[in-house]
Parts: sequence; C-alpha cells; structure tokens
Amino acid sequence: MDCIFCKIIEGAVPSKKVYEDDKILAFHDIAPKSPTHVLVIPKKHIVSAADVKPEDAELLGHIWTMIPKIAETLGVKDSFRVLTNSGEGSGQVVFHLHYHLQSP
Ligand code: 5GP
Ligand code: ZN
Repeated sequence: MDCIFCKIIEGAVPSKKVYEDDKILAFHDIAPKSPTHVLVIPKKHIVSAADVKPEDAELLGHIWTMIPKIAETLGVKDSFRVLTNSGEGSGQVVFHLHYHLQSP
C-alpha cells in the first residue's frame, strides 16, 4: 500500500513526533498552516472519516481522549481546533484518516 502516513508509522519516512502509543501517532504537519499544526492519526489504515466502521469506535474514542492531552503538551489546550477532511472535494490529499490539531 502506497500510503505516506503508514510509512511514517513504520518509520520509513521521518516525522517530528509529539505523541505515540500502540494505537495512535501525533506528529507535526510538514507544511504548518498555523503556529501549532499537528496531525493525529490512528495506526490502523482507515481511508477517511467516511470509512469509519462501528468496530473503530473505541479507537476513535481513544484519539479524542488523547487530543486534549496532546494539546496540553503543545501548550494550546486553552485554544485549539480539530478538523478532518473527508474526500477529495473537501480538500483531503492524504487518504489515511487524520485529525488536524491546530492553534488558531
Ligand atoms: P489533508 O488535506 O489530507 O486533510 O491534509 C494532509 C496534510 O498532511 C497536509 O496538511 C500536509 O501538509 C500534510 N502532509 C503531507 N505529507 C506529509 C508528510 O510526509 N509529512 C508530514 N509531517 N505531513 C505531511
Ligand atoms: Zn495508511
């Protein structure tokens, strides 16, 4: 599978990691669009939010539990936004589910 984020998870492509556990990874966006711009991704290859299945509920719950902790680590817990693009028309360019965690 030719997925840049799976390669980042494997370590085949370098990234500036900010958090990692057995299920998820967070790393700095290569082209930040705000002072803090991190991508939070599941290690499971899910194409987009449109492809989430009922069995992914626990994994996505884990991501949402960790997002405030990652925001705290980054010093933006008081003011941040989370966005996910789903589908080409929305602007999604990497087809591995990811949440943009950004400062305003
Ligand atoms: P999308 O438009 O799919 O929601 O966002 C993809 C994001 O991934 C973009 O903000 C882009 O800058 C980032 N990105 C693409 N390739 C790489 C990469 O190789 N490394 C990192 N760290 N970010 C990437
Ligand atoms: Zn992938």
